[in-house]
Amino acid sequence: MIGTIDVRDLVGRPGASKVEQLSGTVEDLETELASLARDAPIRGELVLESIVEGIFASGRLEGAFELRCARCLREFEQGFAVELHEFFVPFPHEDSDEYPLEPEGFLEPDQMVRDVVGVELPFAPVCRPDCRGLCARCGGDLNLGECTCEEPRIDPRWEGLDVLLEELRHDGDDQTDQADDQAETQEG
Ligand SMILES: [Zn+2]
Ligand SMILES: [Zn+2]
Repeated sequence: MIGTIDVRDLVGRPGASKVEQLSGTVEDLETELASLARDAPIRGELVLESIVEGIFASGRLEGAFELRCARCLREFEQGFAVELHEFFVPFPHEDSDEYPLEPEGFLEPDQMVRDVVGVELPFAPVCRPDCRGLCARCGGDLNLGECTCEEPRIDPRWEGLDVLLEELRHDGDDQTDQADDQAETQEG
């Protein structure tokens, strides 16, 4: 949790502003291959500006993700930095992306941080652009030369073509069968 920010000194004073340092972690920032790094909190600086409608928060958040390579499954860490510009208002519209501002003059940054950082979570992280992944047959890490398959591996770019050829071969069999059937019918 990052924790409540006291903005009682800003509420109702449009034009007033202050800077707040943020540090902490938030829950539920996790996908199958990515999560917030356990040992690195999210850090950042928010400029909070009082506006007629509430509070305008802007700033930058930094931290690190713990990722698992979608190709070779190796774990690695990657830093992130993200800019934010968000509104906190007493009565957020349901279909807006505004956040609630407690009437007493407090705001909870956690949901905003979760949303802003959440969109940065990579869907299919790769440990490096040229990661060769795991062998589809033996599961060996191709980056480490772990593949022990004896047959020459098919270039992955041609794998689709191989499947297609296999299918065509089967279709061909079917057609031959049909032709035989027709020949028999005509004879009979
Ligand atoms: Zn990899
Ligand atoms: Zn292999």
